[in-house]
Amino acid sequence: MKHSLLEICYLIGSVTFILGLKMMGNAKSARKGNMIGAVGMTIAILGTIVLHEGEYNAITLGLIFGAIALGTVIGWMTAKKVQMTKMPELVSIFNGMGGACAALISLIELGHLYHHGNVNEYMHPPVGMMIAIVAGLIIGSISFSGSIIAFLKLNGTMNKPVRLPAYNIINTLVMVGVFGFGGYFVYSGGDMMLAYALFGAAIIYGILFTVPIGGADMPVVISLLNSFTGLAAAFGGFLYDNKVMLTGGILVGSAGTLLTLVMCKAMNRPLSNVIFGAFGGGGAAAAGPDVKGTIKDIQVSDLAVLMNYSKKVVIVPGYGLAVAQAQHIIKELENLLEERGVEVKYAIHPVAGRMPGHMNVLLAESNVSYDKLVEMDEINPEFEQTDVVLIVGANDVVNPAAKTDPSSPIYGMPILEVDKAKNVIVNKRSMNAGYAGIDNLLFYDPKCSMFFGDAKKALTELVAELKTM
Ligand code: NDP
Repeated sequence: MKHSLLEICYLIGSVTFILGLKMMGNAKSARKGNMIGAVGMTIAILGTIVLHEGEYNAITLGLIFGAIALGTVIGWMTAKKVQMTKMPELVSIFNGMGGACAALISLIELGHLYHHGNVNEYMHPPVGMMIAIVAGLIIGSISFSGSIIAFLKLNGTMNKPVRLPAYNIINTLVMVGVFGFGGYFVYSGGDMMLAYALFGAAIIYGILFTVPIGGADMPVVISLLNSFTGLAAAFGGFLYDNKVMLTGGILVGSAGTLLTLVMCKAMNRPLSNVIFGAFGGGGAAAAGPDVKGTIKDIQVSDLAVLMNYSKKVVIVPGYGLAVAQAQHIIKELENLLEERGVEVKYAIHPVAGRMPGHMNVLLAESNVSYDKLVEMDEINPEFEQTDVVLIVGANDVVNPAAKTDPSSPIYGMPILEVDKAKNVIVNKRSMNAGYAGIDNLLFYDPKCSMFFGDAKKALTELVAELKTM
């Protein structure tokens, strides 16, 4: 009876995960989808504790609920306090914790196998079980250490890619070594000392795998690490014959893999390059283009006139829009221009901001219509007929070095071809570089004018000026 009820809890959990994920595909239903998934997860966790076969003693129950309470308080407070621009870092840390859990489950299960006498010199543990444990251990550990490095890169602590000489070869050798070690472990049945060594080796590979990444390749790696965590959790589900863990893991793993492929396409990098560490074209020469020329700036009154008399304006949002929290004022600008008969669209680059879909989420917050958000491939041919491109806090995604400078760390990344428009206006606070840390020759283009200032403040002034016209 208990077992059947538990299976029903798991079924509810699995169905709500799938429904929740589906609803998260749309900004309007995303919040509800997240809630539905969370309710399903709560049912699955409580079901596991209450309906599990076997007795828990008071200490075990205390530990379980103590850990849940601690995790809930920390998770809740962090998620409540986190600023929108820090979300990617939070996601990286959460992802790393998932990987660490999967690795720890494997270590604990190996401990059970060895201590409960299931494994001894006469008996080899079931191969399927050993494969699941070892795969969870390796993939979870890589995901853990890789996500911590990704976190440090996203929050700026590690702002330069660290590349050992011949890092490609070293990384590939270490990867082959780690998986070879895993194969030997399964074959030999292993022991706890070997298990800790394998754990350490996989942690080192996770670090080596992520430290060389710089420039514009982070989004690909973040989604790849995400899929690793899902995969590691799925191995845990297989190990425990736990359907909800298996479904959850497979959903995260497959969603992460699909996102990785989409990101690879957007960044113009084959997945094999990502896996075997050939990130970016940069290397030592990746300091950026040799900047020559002058920049010109534009006053708010002149910009207001220019926009007022335009037929078509395309806004390019970037990370700075999120930093300034200028999404509401940009919507007001859109309304104002449309009232005056100006057509307004938003050009969305797949890696703009600091997480996949960052700009879509940000603009949805201020009720910008989804039809106005146009993907890069669709908007690029429209720039020639655009009177004004207004770039707000974007930099790398419009940097022509991606097309013209083979030594650039973003070389090969498709960009928004804003230089084809009649006028290009860039709003940012200074001449500072973007995430990839390189100069942008677009700012020196004769068609381009800088509209300096914090995005929220500058756009508020622009809106005020337009209202007087
Ligand atoms: P960038 O990071 O290239 O540039 C952002 C610009 O915003 C900066 O140059 C900064 O200039 C400006 N800025 C910062 N604060 C403000 C403010 N308050 N008001 C106005 N401007 C401001 O952003 P993009 O969106 O163009 O590109 C994203 C980059 O991040 C890519 O390199 C991408 O690969 C990377 N990345 C993306 C991830 C994703 O999943 N989307 C994940 C990880 C990395 P200034 O200081 O002068 O104001």
